[in-house]
Amino acid sequence: MYGAALFRLRKEDFEERKHQDGVSPAWPIRYENLEPYYTQAENLYQVHGERGIDPTEPPASAPYPHPPLAHEPRIQELFEKLQKSGHHPFPAPTGLLVNEQDWPNSPCVRCDSCDGFPCLVHAKSDAEVICVRPILGRENVTLVTNAEVTKLETSATGREVTRVIVDRNGVEEAYSGSIVVISAGAANSARILLRSANDEHPRGLANGSDMVGRNYMFHNSTALVALSKQENPTRFQKTLSVNDYYFGADDFEYPIGNIQMIGKSRGPMFREDAPSFAPGFSLDEMARHSVDFWLSSEDLPDPNNRITLNDKAEIQLHYTFNNQEAKKRLRRKLESMLEHLDCHPHLIPNHAYLHKTIPIAGVGHQSGTCRFGSDPETSVLDVNCKAHELDNLYVVDTSFFVSIGAVNPSLTAIANALRVGEHLPERLG
Ligand SMILES: Cc1cc2nc3c(=O)[nH]c(=O)nc-3n(C[C@H](O)[C@H](O)[C@H](O)COP(=O)(O)OP(=O)(O)OC[C@H]3O[C@@H](n4cnc5c(N)ncnc54)[C@H](O)[C@@H]3O)c2cc1C
Ligand code: SF4
Repeated sequence: MYGAALFRLRKEDFEERKHQDGVSPAWPIRYENLEPYYTQAENLYQVHGERGIDPTEPPASAPYPHPPLAHEPRIQELFEKLQKSGHHPFPAPTGLLVNEQDWPNSPCVRCDSCDGFPCLVHAKSDAEVICVRPILGRENVTLVTNAEVTKLETSATGREVTRVIVDRNGVEEAYSGSIVVISAGAANSARILLRSANDEHPRGLANGSDMVGRNYMFHNSTALVALSKQENPTRFQKTLSVNDYYFGADDFEYPIGNIQMIGKSRGPMFREDAPSFAPGFSLDEMARHSVDFWLSSEDLPDPNNRITLNDKAEIQLHYTFNNQEAKKRLRRKLESMLEHLDCHPHLIPNHAYLHKTIPIAGVGHQSGTCRFGSDPETSVLDVNCKAHELDNLYVVDTSFFVSIGAVNPSLTAIANALRVGEHLPERLG
């Protein structure tokens, strides 16, 4: 379940970059190493977009496989007004199985509940639709459902995972394979490693460096709503994005972030903020007039921002916010842009998307708990995403991120999975 925004990290995100609060470190691979896999990922996930408009766009070896999604009239109007005011809005790259030139045959019907909801007609380019369902008939593929991996067991030397222990509907099962890949997400992959501690790996599997679970990142994100006098009847709003402040601004030398749209808000989402912000407005009226934005700035990797487990093996998230100035500035930039957009210059936080105190359920873009690198002292995985300390264990999800940039992480996770996937057959012989 995700919102189908499929962005590449910028080329510069792979390099060391100074931020106001510290350094966003370099990755062990360059953008050029991942570029062919970004192109494969965009083709596989049928991304709609247009190159050459976003000034921060990294070089690409092929055009997007599909044309950009059309803006609905209110968003087209914003697009043109932003252009007129000197900004560079661009069509947000989006993974939908949609054919806007042939609606009767389009799997996606462009409904109003894409963001944050599963697609009921299987038309969102997600892992289930694109990668899992199409291969289920194959002889060498078995999908085991209702199964929670609870532990990885190793050989006596600790160098190989020998058994994957699973709780399946309350019954323990064990699986084995010459290569084991865990892809449970940044929080849960770390949890599996930590709870698999044994005599050879007393701090948790692959955790001799004590890096498993550390450097957790999830973006400094804010979902914000602007109210406009004009109604906004848009159904699918996520077609526009702005990166003009991604690398900084005239008045700020450090990276600031990305602005994009989120799914159209609905009345009940405003319950918490409405009375003070817009007295007299009904919640539904507010939703009819709202224009909804998602702002992302980079949070910097900090070893103290980490996942640990309590004595019931439940995830404990320790997180102290950093790099907050960029987030504040991004909000102010959006406020100044609104003057050109016929919108109320004050924004309200949309708590339906992001709570003030962030619970684990609010951390959509989590990454970084098993970072990859060439130094086993400072990373969990090698450059192929194999655990430094084990010969047959790979972690392939957003855990490997070294830094998070300021765009949505999924396309990078997909591209990296394709990169690692190309390497695995060599291992299987
Ligand atoms: C509402 C929402 C909207 C989002 N929109 C976007 C977007 O538009 N664009 C974007 O790039 N990103 C988006 N994201 C973020 C995106 O969903 C994640 O970055 C991405 O899914 C991470 O992929 P992953 O493979 O690391 O983990 P996941 O997608 O979380 O996959 C991990 C899988 O492992 C399973 N699992 C966990 N623990 C175990 C276990 N012990 N045993 C067995 N299975 C286990 C989980 O059930 C899950 O299926 C969104 C997130 C949310 C919540
Ligand atoms: S039908 Fe709706 S939920 Fe499904 S992909 Fe299209 S817009 Fe998204």
